Amino acid sequence: MALSVQPSSSPLLTSEADEKYANVKWEELGFALIPTDYMYVAKCKQGESFSTGEIIPYGDISISPCSGILNYGQGLFEGLKAYRAKNGCITPFRPNQNALRMQTGADRLCMTSPSEEQFVEAVKQTVLANKKWVPPSGKGALYIRPLLIGTGAVLGVASAPEYTFLIYVSPVGNYHAASSGLNLKVDHTYRRAHTGGTGSVKSCSNYSPVVKSLLEAKSSGFSDILFLDAATGRNIEEISTCNIFIVKGNIVSTPPTSGTILPGITRKSISELGRDIGYQVQERDVSVDELLEAEEVFCTGTAMVVKAVETVTFHNKKKKYRTGKEALSTKLHLMLTNIQMGIVEDKKGWMVEIDGYVPGTKKEISKT
Ligand SMILES: *Cc1c(COP(=O)(O)O)cnc(C)c1O
Repeated sequence: MALSVQPSSSPLLTSEADEKYANVKWEELGFALIPTDYMYVAKCKQGESFSTGEIIPYGDISISPCSGILNYGQGLFEGLKAYRAKNGCITPFRPNQNALRMQTGADRLCMTSPSEEQFVEAVKQTVLANKKWVPPSGKGALYIRPLLIGTGAVLGVASAPEYTFLIYVSPVGNYHAASSGLNLKVDHTYRRAHTGGTGSVKSCSNYSPVVKSLLEAKSSGFSDILFLDAATGRNIEEISTCNIFIVKGNIVSTPPTSGTILPGITRKSISELGRDIGYQVQERDVSVDELLEAEEVFCTGTAMVVKAVETVTFHNKKKKYRTGKEALSTKLHLMLTNIQMGIVEDKKGWMVEIDGYVPGTKKEISKT
């Protein structure tokens, strides 16, 4: 694998770096790539299993022009975050869930996936190698992007003879629940997923087709697109990269993950927290009609955690929903981010502790 480390010209970098932190303007973090020092790479031949990978300097990779990923889109991605907790510990959120989701996807795309242990270990190693890039507590998170791609050469449509498991990371900022909500447009033209397709796995091939729809919506002032089911066009499915919930009274509903919807880990976590505080959380078909009658709508995903939907536009009808302090989404956002940032005790076992040091001291507080 040929490497070339790119000099970074990100406006988000300052000239101040020290042993503990990289030279990032932490206050200005958004959701854009800031290249870090290292990445993880492991390879595996078809029919074999992944051997232990290595941490190498972050940089470009070199693959065959005839690779499975370049020609036939044989690839999966994952996305998760690691936080610097109040006590200085660095803690990824539920990495085993991403490991399992990658396995399901690999099965669908006929690739070999790393084992759950390998995946989690690789996440820990990558985060530790890039420890300086984990934002200070409360200022954001280290976004972790694992990839599983067919890198071997295939000319005819087939599974590639070699796969690469790679993880890179980038510091990202916080999305605030209270900042203005999303303005969604229901898409009447394009469909994201079909029964029997790949909508339920994080296949790279699912995402570039969404961009056209997203650009059209953004050019008309919307923040994102809400896709309908391909079979009937009557039920809501999800947003381009996050799941959706509707709230009416004590009932919180979200479309079921029965093949066309990506089973979000935030979706699963928020459902559990909602039940913990006495809401009835239902996974079932949700029609557009019901959406338009809901009191509140919100989205969930790793990047934004939980985000209120302010309006939904369906044809020429624009419906406004409850947002702000009174909204359930605000409460759920706080509940989950408090766990993620180590502000409240994690009774769920969602945060995985990796080697950490209390800021300003050299005291080691946990070891895996
Ligand atoms: C990644 C993703 C989500 C959210 O999943 P999380 O595990 O919560 O980040 C939802 N929908 C789609 C289409 C996605 O790609």
